[in-house]
Amino acid sequence: MIYLDHNATTPPAPEVIDEMVDAMQRAWANPSSTHEPGQTARRLLADARARVASFLGCQSAELVFTSGATEANHMAVLGALAHGRSAGGVRRRLVMSAVEHPGLLGLARRLETEGTPVDLIPVDVQGRLDLDAARRLIGDGRDVALLSVMGANNETGVLMPIAELVAMARAVGCWLHVDATQLVGKVALDFALSGVDLMSVSAHKLHGPKGIGALVVRKGVAVPALLSGRQERHRRGGTENTPGIAGFAAACDRAARTLDADLTRLRALGQVLENGLRLRLPEVQVYGDEAVRLPGTVCVRFGELDSERVLGRLERAGVVASSGAACTASGTQPSHVLLAMGESALQAKAGVRFSLGRDTTLAEIHRTLDIARHAIGPLLQTEADQPLARAA
Ligand code: PMP
Repeated sequence: MIYLDHNATTPPAPEVIDEMVDAMQRAWANPSSTHEPGQTARRLLADARARVASFLGCQSAELVFTSGATEANHMAVLGALAHGRSAGGVRRRLVMSAVEHPGLLGLARRLETEGTPVDLIPVDVQGRLDLDAARRLIGDGRDVALLSVMGANNETGVLMPIAELVAMARAVGCWLHVDATQLVGKVALDFALSGVDLMSVSAHKLHGPKGIGALVVRKGVAVPALLSGRQERHRRGGTENTPGIAGFAAACDRAARTLDADLTRLRALGQVLENGLRLRLPEVQVYGDEAVRLPGTVCVRFGELDSERVLGRLERAGVVASSGAACTASGTQPSHVLLAMGESALQAKAGVRFSLGRDTTLAEIHRTLDIARHAIGPLLQTEADQPLARAA
């Protein structure tokens, strides 16, 4: 099987599994306990925290471990609103991009029904954030509790203009949150230099374990806790996930060692895939082909073929990829990202994402190209001969 769905999740690295097993065997005690076994767990936690912080370019004290990026995103949004309420109630509006992760947009929609004003910044046909619209929507910004924009889109890989957003947030004095889940392990990050106030990350996107991530909180930014308790400096209650945090640290160490080489290789392999698909299947449309994108994320549609049909064919031939479209009991829903880029509902159900990882080889990409031609070519031919066939 050729696995090209690394933006969904990555396989845990061997050193990650080793460190997790070691943490469970050697440091299983509660890090809050004052006895010796507890102190062993506490030391492991401090060491792992320092390694993750070093990889992200933040201080240990700025890291709040969470169950993943979904929780970190919730903490950023709900924390910023709570902070806005406590500071005189003026800052109560959320401004975020229209292509955020469904978990974050779902939260925003729920908050909107409960009375929180929410404004969504549009993207252009390439999936790039509309900075003029962002400026307009922020306005004088006095009522903005949080500006929240992802570092890179998980479906298209299009990078967002973080430096410009930092300047906008600074100008109006609101907090900026960046969901950096898709950046971590793919491009170099330096939280201290970025100027960002809050940053969400997740370990399972960089060959770490699932169920562990973090919200990086800039020193001086007081985000109220979602879960009460003494852990994480009173910012996130609950006994620490020591094995998960140890695994996260191992994943960060591993990524730091090979990040530059991985980036170069992924960029080249992504280009081979993109060019190869265009050559073999002229009906292919590449999303964000003029935008700056993550290395190794190639999101396309083949004519207007439904992604489910394409993915089924690919998987039967040994290639697994994914669609941005959400599958529900009532069928496939179009991708909100592609709709925001101006695609029709039919087109937005046709997006297929190939996301490469550091273990992806050139031979796998060549094989994928062959498979794509044989598996998808005939479907495109049928579609061209009988336009109504796609409706069947
Ligand atoms: N944000 C983005 C941009 C993501 O790609 C994902 C994972 N698909 C998440 C948030 C959610 O991360 P987690 O699984 O750690 O909750």
